[in-house]
Amino acid sequence: MGARAPGGACTVVVGCQWGDEGKGKVVDVLAGDADVIARYQGGANAGHTVHVGDHHIVLHQVPSGVLHAGKRCLLGNGVVLDVDRFFAELDGLAERGVDPGGRVGVSNRAHVVFPYHKALDAAAEEAARRKIGTTGRGIGPAYESKTGRRGVRVADLLDRVRGVERVGRAIDWARARLRELGADPGLAGTVEDALALAHRLPTVATDVGDELARALAAGGRVLLEGAQGTALDVDHGTYPFVTSSNTTAGAAAVGVGIGPTAIDSVIGVVKAYTTRVGNGPLPTAFDPAMDERIRRLGAEFGATTGRPRRCGWFDAVLAAYSARVNGLTGIAVTKLDVLDTLPELKIATAYRIDGETRSLFPACVRELEQAEPVCETLPGWRTPTTGARSMNDLPANARAYLHRIEELVGTPIAMVSVGTRRSQVIRKW
Ligand code: GDP
Repeated sequence: MGARAPGGACTVVVGCQWGDEGKGKVVDVLAGDADVIARYQGGANAGHTVHVGDHHIVLHQVPSGVLHAGKRCLLGNGVVLDVDRFFAELDGLAERGVDPGGRVGVSNRAHVVFPYHKALDAAAEEAARRKIGTTGRGIGPAYESKTGRRGVRVADLLDRVRGVERVGRAIDWARARLRELGADPGLAGTVEDALALAHRLPTVATDVGDELARALAAGGRVLLEGAQGTALDVDHGTYPFVTSSNTTAGAAAVGVGIGPTAIDSVIGVVKAYTTRVGNGPLPTAFDPAMDERIRRLGAEFGATTGRPRRCGWFDAVLAAYSARVNGLTGIAVTKLDVLDTLPELKIATAYRIDGETRSLFPACVRELEQAEPVCETLPGWRTPTTGARSMNDLPANARAYLHRIEELVGTPIAMVSVGTRRSQVIRKW
């Protein structure tokens, strides 16, 4: 174990916009200092892209910390596990020379995503009048099963008899629901299909909360990794255009099975601009030409679905709200380099809604749809930042832009990322 980070022994990394903020890169950098890395929510709908050497690796479920040799990587109870994809990801890593053997564990309390959840996802999206824009990976239905107390957990599948009984009941329910939605009930699949890969679960099942508590008690360092972002949190996001779980830092303790008092610091990841994939309002959206330009410069296409992301200016109303909801102790600003060629930049400091200027992120999506951003304009730097390794290496206008973000968000910057590579980072601690 290295020196204790000023942040403390247990750090949460959380997305502060609509996801895709570059959490994978930030976690990858911070994982170098951690002993255990655990994901606390989400499923195979989240995609982290990490660049290591010449490899470009997309991880959907396995925490990106797995790319650091010797680190223990866990999936907490707050995650919904797509068993087939999870083992495919582990096997894929092994093929690319990353040996995850024995280092990856899954909470025995995590709920499992089955083929019938995907069938329900597709049928519900088809039947919905107003589409949410889900990834069709069965995540929503799996979380619904969980809160509906019909879910099947990893622990249930460790015992074949119990697994067959629980999955059988769940499939009966799914068949009935598919029929209601006007879809073919046969799409729910069979118990045998659902349990096909369950035989591998005993090799990874563990009590994640117990492991983490022991690691912390032994003086180890723990990193808790969220998926998606604050604006997609089922409670605090732009409901109903949200994901099915709590993405915010408060969910980190719940999602891995430790108490909130065990958490020392929360790093919020913000892109130097804003993006959104899927449907729902984006108040700082660029005009079409600028949207196209930044999408190209920032390679803004979904890591999981390839869907183009809509792009916009930095939204300090959202970021300040995220700082409060997550209790941020520091922010990591990513993709600063994407803005290197712009002559000037805007930051939204408030919204105009119904003729009123508001600085608090609204609860109602209708209001957000009407929100006109109130922006201030800052000069660009028109200099490459990709080689910067300290704040002093950055052009003065880039430092001023970051400083303004820090002021508006009310949180100090802990890290700035200036490129896709692990080395392209400025760490302030
Ligand atoms: P995540 O889900 O929050 O990890 O975000 P994604 O992985 O979907 O998107 C982040 C993308 O941005 C990945 O392709 C990263 O390699 C890339 N990225 C991360 N940080 C930077 C950066 O500082 N500059 C540039 N140009 N790309 C970055």
